[in-house]
Amino acid sequence: MDKQKNQPIEVDIVVVGAGIIGLATAASAAKLGMRVCCIDQQLPPEKEGAIYGQEQLQSAWVSALASPGVTLLDEIGVWDDLKDHACPYHHMRVEIYGAPIHLSHRDAMTPNLGHILNNFRIKQALWQSCRASDGVVFLQDTPQEWRHEEQQLYTTSGQQITAALCVGADGVNSWCRSAAGISHIQHEYIQDNALVGMLQHGKPHHQTARQYFSEHGVLGILPSTDYHRSIYVWSSARGQSQADSLARMLQRVPSEIGSLKLIGEPRSHRIVSQRVTKYHQRQIVLAGDAAVSVHPLAGQGMNIGLRHVIMLMKQLKYAHRNSQLFSNQQILSRYQELCCGFDALSCETYSHMRRWLCHRSGVWSHFVGLGVRCFNQAATVKRVLIRHALHANIH
Ligand SMILES: Cc1cc2nc3c(=O)[nH]c(=O)nc-3n(C[C@H](O)[C@H](O)[C@H](O)COP(=O)(O)OP(=O)(O)OC[C@H]3O[C@@H](n4cnc5c(N)ncnc54)[C@H](O)[C@@H]3O)c2cc1C
Repeated sequence: MDKQKNQPIEVDIVVVGAGIIGLATAASAAKLGMRVCCIDQQLPPEKEGAIYGQEQLQSAWVSALASPGVTLLDEIGVWDDLKDHACPYHHMRVEIYGAPIHLSHRDAMTPNLGHILNNFRIKQALWQSCRASDGVVFLQDTPQEWRHEEQQLYTTSGQQITAALCVGADGVNSWCRSAAGISHIQHEYIQDNALVGMLQHGKPHHQTARQYFSEHGVLGILPSTDYHRSIYVWSSARGQSQADSLARMLQRVPSEIGSLKLIGEPRSHRIVSQRVTKYHQRQIVLAGDAAVSVHPLAGQGMNIGLRHVIMLMKQLKYAHRNSQLFSNQQILSRYQELCCGFDALSCETYSHMRRWLCHRSGVWSHFVGLGVRCFNQAATVKRVLIRHALHANIH
């Protein structure tokens, strides 16, 4: 569906933000027969259906996708095209103060622990799904005012959009969150940046994800579809030379995957750890980083956002089937209930892991190392933790 500029638009839901979570919301809602208007300050330029070049599609900007996210992408109809570009991983090795933890898909009783997949590729597939649907209109614009009583959104370019519900998927600095008057809790002690880039290694990665905690930060090494290449994510405190600390950290990495060589220029990302106190207000509902942004050490931010999409669609489907309004307070409160406990636990756990597992004290590290060794032997505890991280308890 193509928009007529400045003609009023009337849809079931308006989605602010065409990042992965906004696009997944728009595509899922369109699959359920809803009319959607998706607005973003910067829509991607489209060339013959493609929006990204090979450089971006093969870049190190990846996510570790857990199985509910894969199921969602499958239901939207894009997983068949994506799966050939995804690297399933079966094992994870974590090292904390030199003490190892080995996690396996067998511990979780799942076929794998997840898939590593390029974010641009996911975005492009979702974009194409939305473009192929008659139910989604895109606008390159920014929201200016949400009049919740009239259920109308006004944009800076003067567009009027009438929608029963506004979904805020506009990222960490969400305009929708402010417009809804929803406050958030931020972990001020998380002051990290992440360097993300590509690594070449002498030996194959054996579809194993690796993570090392040190007093300077956390290094993740994620396998790619090329057995001799992995993606690194180095999170450390802002203000120090991250390239130097990364080089030192790489020297400490055990030689399981042979000699390591950095390839190309890394991307740098500011890390924010925060979560909202409410998920809806004034007919605005929040999803993705707009609601909760977690430290990337567990590779969960997008998975949490995709979980929001699953939970929201469940509620909207229920409303549709029972002839209830999408803005029905009970429906939105149920969405909030389904999200807030899980998100709070995840957000708090990851920020405390960053705080307490990268500590300098010798006595502390000795006791944590001891605890880690005990944990590695505790199969049941490991299973519970992995199943939480894999969102395996979602259904
Ligand atoms: C280093 C790093 C590694 C990560 N690794 C993983 C991982 O392995 N696994 C995982 O699950 N997650 C990971 N994450 C987290 C994941 O990348 C994010 O959670 C996810 O991309 C958030 O998507 P989103 O759509 O909610 O927000 P965004 O991607 O931020 O999208 C928001 C969209 O809203 C638009 N927008 C914003 N404001 C406005 C406005 N006022 N008007 C109009 N449009 C607006 C923006 O242009 C953008 O398109 C990682 C994050 C980092 C930093």
